[in-house]
Amino acid sequence: MIQARSSFSSCIAIVLLLGSAPAWGQHTPGIPGWQQDVHYSFSVSYAPQKFEIAGQETLAYWNLSPDTLSELYFHLYLNAYRPGSHMARYDASHEDWRVQDLPPKRRGSERIESARILSSEDSLAVETDDTIARVALPEALAPGESVIVCLSFRSMIPDVPERMGRSGKGIFAAQWYPKVCVYDRFGWHTEQHLGSEFYGDFGAYDVRISLPGSFLVAHTGTLLNAAEILPDSILSRLAAPGDSAVTIWDRSRFTMPADSAQRAAIGLPRTWVIHADSVHDFAWACEEKWIWRRARWNGIEIHTYHRASDAKRWNEMAAEGARMMEAMNHRFGPYPYPRFSFVEEPIGAGGVEFPNIVWITPRRGSSTVSRRLEYLFAHELAHNWFYGMVGNNETAQAFLDEGLTSYSETAVMETLYGREGNLTRPQKPGWLHPTDDSRRAAWRNYLEFQASGIEEPVVTHSDRFKNPAAYYPSVYHKANVGLWTLRSIAGEERFDGALRQYFETWRFHHPYAEDFFATMNHALGASYDWFWSGWFLRTDAIDVGLRGVRVAKETSPGTGSPVTLRLRSRGGIDPPVPVRFRDGNGHEAVRVVPREVFLPAAGDAEYRLTLPFKPTEAEVDPKFTLPDLSRNDNRTSPWPRVQPMLDNWRSSPKPLGKTLLLWRPDLWYQTKDGVQAGAAFDASTVRWERALQGLVGVGAREPRPFADLEARVRSLAAEPRRIARARGYNMDGHRGFRLSMTEDLGSKIERGFRWTLQAGVDLDRLYDTGDPRRPAEWSPGGHANLEGTLSSTRKFHRVRWAGSVRLRGDLLSESVSYGSIYATTTADVSALPRFPIVLRAAVGRVRGSAIPPEERFYLAGAGPRGEWGSRWFRSRGTIPTHWNAALGGDGNVRAFADTRPSGTTLVAVNAESRSSRLIPAWVPVLSKLHIPVIEPRSSVFADAGEVSDGDVALRDMAADLGVGIRTKPLFRSHLTLRADLPLYRTPPEPGENPWKLRAVFSVGEAF
Ligand SMILES: [Zn+2]
Repeated sequence: MIQARSSFSSCIAIVLLLGSAPAWGQHTPGIPGWQQDVHYSFSVSYAPQKFEIAGQETLAYWNLSPDTLSELYFHLYLNAYRPGSHMARYDASHEDWRVQDLPPKRRGSERIESARILSSEDSLAVETDDTIARVALPEALAPGESVIVCLSFRSMIPDVPERMGRSGKGIFAAQWYPKVCVYDRFGWHTEQHLGSEFYGDFGAYDVRISLPGSFLVAHTGTLLNAAEILPDSILSRLAAPGDSAVTIWDRSRFTMPADSAQRAAIGLPRTWVIHADSVHDFAWACEEKWIWRRARWNGIEIHTYHRASDAKRWNEMAAEGARMMEAMNHRFGPYPYPRFSFVEEPIGAGGVEFPNIVWITPRRGSSTVSRRLEYLFAHELAHNWFYGMVGNNETAQAFLDEGLTSYSETAVMETLYGREGNLTRPQKPGWLHPTDDSRRAAWRNYLEFQASGIEEPVVTHSDRFKNPAAYYPSVYHKANVGLWTLRSIAGEERFDGALRQYFETWRFHHPYAEDFFATMNHALGASYDWFWSGWFLRTDAIDVGLRGVRVAKETSPGTGSPVTLRLRSRGGIDPPVPVRFRDGNGHEAVRVVPREVFLPAAGDAEYRLTLPFKPTEAEVDPKFTLPDLSRNDNRTSPWPRVQPMLDNWRSSPKPLGKTLLLWRPDLWYQTKDGVQAGAAFDASTVRWERALQGLVGVGAREPRPFADLEARVRSLAAEPRRIARARGYNMDGHRGFRLSMTEDLGSKIERGFRWTLQAGVDLDRLYDTGDPRRPAEWSPGGHANLEGTLSSTRKFHRVRWAGSVRLRGDLLSESVSYGSIYATTTADVSALPRFPIVLRAAVGRVRGSAIPPEERFYLAGAGPRGEWGSRWFRSRGTIPTHWNAALGGDGNVRAFADTRPSGTTLVAVNAESRSSRLIPAWVPVLSKLHIPVIEPRSSVFADAGEVSDGDVALRDMAADLGVGIRTKPLFRSHLTLRADLPLYRTPPEPGENPWKLRAVFSVGEAF
């Protein structure tokens, strides 16, 4: 053992720049307590053909804790990216087998090959368990002492869409070296890496990376030897003065020298020598094909690295990054490092933060309408404050970095692009291009999440969410919304000042949630524990409403109108409530009802005040400063606010506090009505409790009006996964209704079987037999039916399974008498990667003394009730009636679409292999054929089944065999037009050859 900062000889050929005490040694002593100090030195080389980093690591570790340490622990994160790792098994237990299935060439690994203490030649024992290595120290490390450990290691960067990955011959190197675990006031943090985020000690890094000269390197820290390794042309542009954005290097404009010696010289290895200080991690990326740009703000260099294909959007982003840097500095505190880099990553990680450098995923296509790229830039830059400088334990309390960063990103978006519409670029016409903004999106995401019923406390450990789907909305959205809410409660300037104070106090330290709450309370000058504990430690919410307003007569003229407000608060958190009063003469007043009124009243409170005018209306929280769960009860007016909007088939972000009425014109054709013109609409709110959708219109021939309306009701308070529906219709010769209740039974935990139960009654009357496509298959109807369906899905390793059982019968009817059971199961099998196959089985039986024909089972496809559900098959003439057509359903033995046999008993099995292209991937050469426009796809199929009015006999089985062709879905993910060609069927019609070219037209998949 050696004492801290005593002299020592060099371990490997690296000079350790220990120098004076580290920066945080002088920083606000005492308040945050002690923390360990580290100094890493690396000498590594990168082998592009193997995606491997190998070399030496020297770690100087100061034990500044009051405890004696007998061992050190290291993270070997890359070991998670291989089958059998803790993370791979954790993912598989949540039905994600991507890492378990990773082929050998794409796996990651990280190995400590040797370890020793600098002062000794004896090697140290290294015990490795997956992503954690334990190195026992030969002598205990007493408080105040330091040790220098020399490791040689070898890391393989995996090919995964993760925080690290491969791109061309280059890599995005994150978590690429054995990193010492944090020892803090809670002891060693030696948790296995299960995919959540990280935790690191602040310190210094000296990194030497050798790699071919054709690569550029983007990195944490500062390059020390630019003059040695970069050409003069780059050096001169780097040295150019001025803040505006300039291109430092453009690979697309560079032509390789013709001279082979010169070409070889470019590829010779070069060593990048980099230093970083006061950071808790070091990341780097190397590429051969970047465009490299730079802007400056206040002496800080902002670099962007991107590919030529994305230059259109990225060329402007260095300047935009500089504006964001300015906004962050003004709002939260100074960025003390000399440079910051945004690197475009094609590996698909999204956006990933590291000290001084971030990865940003390319998002082409959507970028012309949304500011998704700017939003990612703002988010990842903001992380350098909350993560980079305020270094919390991200694995344990992710909201401290993700929540505060989401809040900061929203603040930056508002500063740069305004409060309204900052997520969307302005587009014309406005009525076709709805706007959205960062704060509204967070609000909406939180409110929807809260309504989903899967909420867990924000402070839940990242790996311990019962439902992993609750992680993101909790630590990003709920935390973000909570901070904006508290800002409006505590006062904007006071809150902004408090957050700056938190940043200043905890900069280069490791706060936990209680430190954040305590520092904020202290800076705000009051305890907000009632808010912190409800919002962050529990799943409480804010749900306030107006129960009534009583206005009394003025006691004497000029004394004002005495008003009694009756309020309710049901979310668990009782906030101060702003209320706005108005009268009809332009008077307006806002009063804040203190939260204390709720305390003795168990959520129902009365509050008296006097207004200078006699109000005729009142509204709770008119400016949406509270994430109030239910806005229906906030106003004296009973009318909902409605925002109509034309459905543009793309995005329609829901407004807050209003019902969004999406509508679109509708034009259809069927023989009886001729052209049917009308409008389709869907009205719902962010957290819909009541919603309405439907279709209304007029047929041109008579003209007959028609309507199909469905109301949906969800009780968020009792059980958000239960939905009641009522549907009534009068169209295409049918009149009827359906009442049903759907309940999600088992999706609280996102794994295992997911069950849904649906039960309801329906009644349908066919009043015009001229309308339906197949009138002979319908009874006049007019009787009520009872139906219940239990369905379930499950994702197994290579099989996606779905099954359902349906019971149906007449209800108190004299005209019909029947009862039926119908069960189907499908399995989507991906055991052979290039040959996916879907298997299906169906059985059905209907019994009774008077069975209506629409309740029988049909061999070729859906029966009349199934066809009624599709507007393509509902009426005569929409699809030419003489065409051979069959909708998916029942037996699916599609070759029999011309004769449509039916029976009271059904058994059927089907198999289909669908390809996402015309020639399946397993056909060599031809599969390269590409036909754009509708991108036709193909399938092969085989069906067998039987319908009968008695018992089923195998020898009567019908079967077919054929190929299919279809379009890719034409709208969003809907509407596939399909033609199946059953080339063989048995039994054939009398005198028919079983092998024959037949065609069956359809819409959608068969199953
Ligand atoms: Zn983030």
